[in-house]
Amino acid sequence: MLGITIDNKLTWTAHINTLYDRTLFLTSNFNRIIKTDWSVNKNLIKFWYNTVIEKALLYGANVWGGALNKYHVDRLHTIQRIFLLKFARGYRTTSTNVLNVLTGIPPLHIAAKAEFLKFQIWVRRSGDYNDIINNVQLDYNILIKNIPSDMKLVSLSEHLPDATYEVYTDGSKINEETGLDVCILKDNDNTQNFLFKLKPYNSVFQAELAAIQFAANWAVSENSKINLYTDSLSSILALQSASSRSNFVNKAKTDLFKAKNLVGLSWVKAHVGIQGNELADQQAKLATTTGEELLIPAPRSYLNRTLKQLILHEWCGYWNKYTSASGIRVRGFLDTVSPNFLIYNKILIYFLSGHGPFPFYLHRFKRVNSPLCTCGLVGDADHYVFDCSLTREFHLIKPTEASKKLWFKNLMSNKQAIGKMTNSFKISNDICDSLTRDSP
Ligand SMILES: [Zn+2]
Repeated sequence: MLGITIDNKLTWTAHINTLYDRTLFLTSNFNRIIKTDWSVNKNLIKFWYNTVIEKALLYGANVWGGALNKYHVDRLHTIQRIFLLKFARGYRTTSTNVLNVLTGIPPLHIAAKAEFLKFQIWVRRSGDYNDIINNVQLDYNILIKNIPSDMKLVSLSEHLPDATYEVYTDGSKINEETGLDVCILKDNDNTQNFLFKLKPYNSVFQAELAAIQFAANWAVSENSKINLYTDSLSSILALQSASSRSNFVNKAKTDLFKAKNLVGLSWVKAHVGIQGNELADQQAKLATTTGEELLIPAPRSYLNRTLKQLILHEWCGYWNKYTSASGIRVRGFLDTVSPNFLIYNKILIYFLSGHGPFPFYLHRFKRVNSPLCTCGLVGDADHYVFDCSLTREFHLIKPTEASKKLWFKNLMSNKQAIGKMTNSFKISNDICDSLTRDSP
């Protein structure tokens, strides 16, 4: 085992190194798209990153993502940076940490770790990470190739003409509480209701399918024919699909298969006044608080959600430890990191990061001799946006320390203010040009 680990570690380093070339290749493609069409929507590019590029970069991360050392983390940042720079079009010196925050794309080493955890928890069923999922029992995938084909795809008749009972089922989620119910009707009389309460981590889909499953088992135990009505199309589709590997879904299928001569199953439109469906809807809401407790293992979506929160949490911690000047500056204007955040405008990136056409910045990177503006004051981003006499006609009103975050939030959607900032930075750019020329 030790030998394998050592071998793996060597391979991981080699693998991570190959990612560099892979990213260059993927983003060269990206360059062509951007060059030919500047109007490509930034959200679309981000979507492309999330669905294509990150997947390619995280290939095998279920193995290597768990044992990253400082070298690996740095290397992954260098790799992700290739993309982030092209995407954000900020100055080349803008730090990877800042670019992550401004594009809402989490650092690659954190995404890799989540990938590793997903594999350990879902596939390997390792108990080492139970605390991450709050010790919740998870659904699992089964091998479906061994299931006989007539049980893989449960096809029930829609309506049994000689059924004794009409049964309406429903699932519901209110205030994070999940419930389900099965309402039995005989000759239009509501003779019996079964209400169950699930856990907050259970999905509505699970509730709906569990309700159908319970109804089918009830028909078997009563040895009575029922016509079953549900407004959950996804449940019906799950029963009719051969592809679900979920143990929970397949157990429901098995039960439905056993009851197939006793159950007619059809879909009814919700909220159109069908009496039985309205009753089931109302009872399902009741079930979320008063139903009998029913334990169904959490769906995979629960794990995915939990890992997303973990990524956010780790990213937040990592970001707050980043104490460079630009990190501190950006934190002054932004509340926190978020995968939903995205800055479209490079002018805003210059302003936020402080890395842009400013003497103060260029001096820091030894491109000009002095950090001072031609007006004699320190020429940083704030100077041109709020203070410099040379940009006076484009000034914005400087926010107080306490209102900086709200101010920036509003600025992002204020085209007029961004236009002023753009003009200020055109002037500061000219100033920088003249300073660069003057430098020996
Ligand atoms: Zn000035």
